[in-house]
Amino acid sequence: MRLSDLPTGGSGYIIKVLGHGGFRRRIMEMGFVRGQRVEVLLNAPLKDPIKYKVMDYEVSLRRSEAAMIEVVDNYELGIGSYESADATHISGNGTNGTTELAEERLQELVHKRHKQINIALVGNPNSGKSSLYNALSGGHEHVGNYGGVTVDAKRGTFTFRDYEFVIYDLPGTYALSPYTPEELYVRRHLTRNIPDVVVNVVAASNLERNLYLTTELIDIDQNMVVALNMYDELEASGAVLDVAALGGLLGTPVVPVAARDRMGLDELMETVIEVYEGRNATVRHIHINHGPAIEDALCELRRVMSVDFDHFPKHFSRRYIILKFLERDREVEKMLSKSCPHYSEWPAVRDREAQKVQKTLGEDVETAITNEKYGFIAGALGETLTPGKEDKISTTHAIDAIVTHKLWGFPIFFFLMWLMFQMTFKLGQYPMNWIESGVGWLGEWLGGVLPGGPLHELLVDGIIGGVGSVIVFLPNILILFLCISFMEDSGYMARAAFIMDRVMHKIGLHGKSFIPLVMGFGCNVPGIMAARAIESRSSRIITVLISPFISCSARLPIYILLAGAFFPGHASLVLFSIYLFGILIAALTALVMRKTMFKRDDTPFVMELPPYRLPTLRTTLRHMWDKGKQYLRKMGGVILAASVVVWVLSYYPREAEHSYLERIGMAAEPVMRPLGIPWEGSVALVAGVGAKEITVSTLGVLYADNGEESEASLPEHMVAPDPVTGVPDWTPVSALSFMVFALLYFPCLAALAAIRKEAGGWKWVALSVVYNTLIAWVAAWLVYNIGNLIV
Ligand code: GDP
Ligand code: MG
Repeated sequence: MRLSDLPTGGSGYIIKVLGHGGFRRRIMEMGFVRGQRVEVLLNAPLKDPIKYKVMDYEVSLRRSEAAMIEVVDNYELGIGSYESADATHISGNGTNGTTELAEERLQELVHKRHKQINIALVGNPNSGKSSLYNALSGGHEHVGNYGGVTVDAKRGTFTFRDYEFVIYDLPGTYALSPYTPEELYVRRHLTRNIPDVVVNVVAASNLERNLYLTTELIDIDQNMVVALNMYDELEASGAVLDVAALGGLLGTPVVPVAARDRMGLDELMETVIEVYEGRNATVRHIHINHGPAIEDALCELRRVMSVDFDHFPKHFSRRYIILKFLERDREVEKMLSKSCPHYSEWPAVRDREAQKVQKTLGEDVETAITNEKYGFIAGALGETLTPGKEDKISTTHAIDAIVTHKLWGFPIFFFLMWLMFQMTFKLGQYPMNWIESGVGWLGEWLGGVLPGGPLHELLVDGIIGGVGSVIVFLPNILILFLCISFMEDSGYMARAAFIMDRVMHKIGLHGKSFIPLVMGFGCNVPGIMAARAIESRSSRIITVLISPFISCSARLPIYILLAGAFFPGHASLVLFSIYLFGILIAALTALVMRKTMFKRDDTPFVMELPPYRLPTLRTTLRHMWDKGKQYLRKMGGVILAASVVVWVLSYYPREAEHSYLERIGMAAEPVMRPLGIPWEGSVALVAGVGAKEITVSTLGVLYADNGEESEASLPEHMVAPDPVTGVPDWTPVSALSFMVFALLYFPCLAALAAIRKEAGGWKWVALSVVYNTLIAWVAAWLVYNIGNLIV
């Protein structure tokens, strides 16, 4: 808990002081050091400051200051209430046995709590934060070779030496300005969560740009260590860097690491501990000099603002806050205007100073500050770095010359997409057949050993029919994920986005929207979440809303089943067309939204092209497996449950002519008949709203019921004539209509939850549900009717 939370009369022991370096030093000089006992003399909820007694002195602290001091109180120590554990009790004469015990336990607890270190990974996109996070915490965070993969903070824990670490993998940022959601997110994390040590992950292969963020982190003056990642690449390029000298210039320890190969991690953590314990010799707070014009402006602002220094936030240095105020940083303005009584006088001074800078330098304050920071970096690198032959860069350029070529870029891209779907379908066929016969055999065997009756039918028709019909697609889905993971990890995905930029402009979006969409082929949910990396709000919302039209792997079984059954020989063509159709609808929808709901916006396309990296087999396979695991978990959970429910509804009531399920199907009849979809199909679609896989498992249950004790597989059942009517339920055209409907209608519940979160509001969810279902109906109707004219 924090010191500010202790009530009058309460007492506690100090664990650590948070906040920026200057503040910490000052507070510690006042006696608020680890293990010290603090007693609250007066803490009235609405009164500031609060009076404390520490080391027998009376001191008063502002509430905002006390909120930065972490303490343990008597409750946590388990020695009862504040009354019974008053001052004399604990610090009193040592002859009292219980007191000594308490004292001992207390120091132990303070010690233990002190050994918990909270670290945050901050760095540019693609600098290897997630790789480092995984290597340290044993986590399975997604690693990808382009910006915007991590869109949320991931929290992990691990122990090293005898310290317990809590580590956060934050989204990638280039700076700490509040311009993109990521930047805001990271800054808020540093404000609210106040890490004990910030680990700034810097890509050694691109020092100049990466160190820009470092200069901003230096400005805020929290504890920091620079993890110089991808040191292997720097060495491979033949460059030589004087790491110790660079650390000295930055006033921050710099530790070379290679997260992917787990090199240098021990040194990194040792250094983090040293910095945390305040015994690292490199640590020194430096002021990056921004040149006379800006420094003068800062000086003047400092003079004017000093009246309210007490009210300044304590997590970032004053200099940083003043600097950001000079840059007209909205968040900082808001923060200051809330806490500082004299705030109203400052904007005028700031505007005047900014004007002066503009006049002297001929550029606005922000540009000037950026330039000075790059100047600082160039200087620091000039002294410490001897560049190599840049081998890596030239191979990257050579590959890029081909894959992003004006003419060849697109054919290569489409070839790769085509290859991906071919592999998914053709290669997946073999293991699929094995699993299929395994499932068939299991059903038969169970059918043989179990006595007849409801249990027999539940197991064989309900569970094996339902879950079995979905599990056969596991190989296809694994292959699809393998391809997507490989494209992401190698860096090709960023190129694909790059060449798609011009095309995306035509539908009112830009290249950055492309990656979320491609990820959507795997699953729409991470795709929708990845849209967070798009700066422009309107583009972000459009991308989120069109994402469900990108056919995810959950819908793949539907196409494989129906295309395989009704279009033998042309199955992959049908499959590919369905995917293309989804993309077409997505594009048209984006176009319409841009024309009607959002006026044009032309945020320029900034997408870096990271160097190509050969992904390790381990990471790629792990991605694939992570997804596979999710798939299996879904199978054991929601799909199993749905299969049982569907079976129950199809089995009961025994005495009536029609089962519950048939009644549901028949109720949907008037709506679905014009699409040529039989009642079994309607029921499957309704069930698929929970998760699209359930569509196939439902068909599995329904058709398992139809064919007595035959050994026919699900597709064979669907093609066969209906035992009641004598004609097949489905025709190739109605199967196509069903596929189109399944592709477009109602996003699954998980996708809707993601839409609500990323687009920000239920109205987008409602729009998505209504619009998509309507589009699905119209499209399926057209397919069915036009198809029947042709056939
Ligand atoms: P993040 O965006 O900062 O989370 O970066 P990621 O962890 O996703 O990594 C980006 C890319 O850098 C991936 O392709 C990683 O395989 C690669 N990478 C990470 N660490 C290293 C390293 O130490 N050496 C090399 N050569 N590549 C690395
Ligand atoms: Mg990441």
